[in-house]
Amino acid sequence: MEADNPCQGCSKCCRYVAMEIDKPEDQKDFDQIKWFLVHKDVWIFIDHDNSWNIQFNTPCEKLNGNLCGIYKTRPQICRDYSSENCEKYGAGDSFKLLWKNMEEFEEYLLGSSKYSKFALR
Ligand code: SF4
Ligand code: SF4
Repeated sequence: MEADNPCQGCSKCCRYVAMEIDKPEDQKDFDQIKWFLVHKDVWIFIDHDNSWNIQFNTPCEKLNGNLCGIYKTRPQICRDYSSENCEKYGAGDSFKLLWKNMEEFEEYLLGSSKYSKFALR
């Protein structure tokens, strides 16, 4: 990345991939989320638009320190990502709810009037 841009010294958004998943609706769906969460460095979060998402915490292989090693040929998704509301400059958390492991998710389900029937035991 260029030396005088707001991303100077930061590479937070290059250190994971996240994508939307179907909102869980039945026991099978909730069990699948449990399966995701028993894997190392896999998180599940609900975004501010209420979408459910999976995040794999794995850095881009093109990172060179905190710099993009393929800046001129980086994928379009990297070009489109704005620093205006990113992990570093955005106000507040970048998610509504976040679970980093199965136990956190289970605890959430047990305390939820909506989802407690899907509590994983
Ligand atoms: S967009 Fe934000 S999180 Fe990504 S490198 Fe720039 S400042 Fe860091
Ligand atoms: S290609 Fe470059 S900008 Fe895109 S995620 Fe990798 S290091 Fe970051």
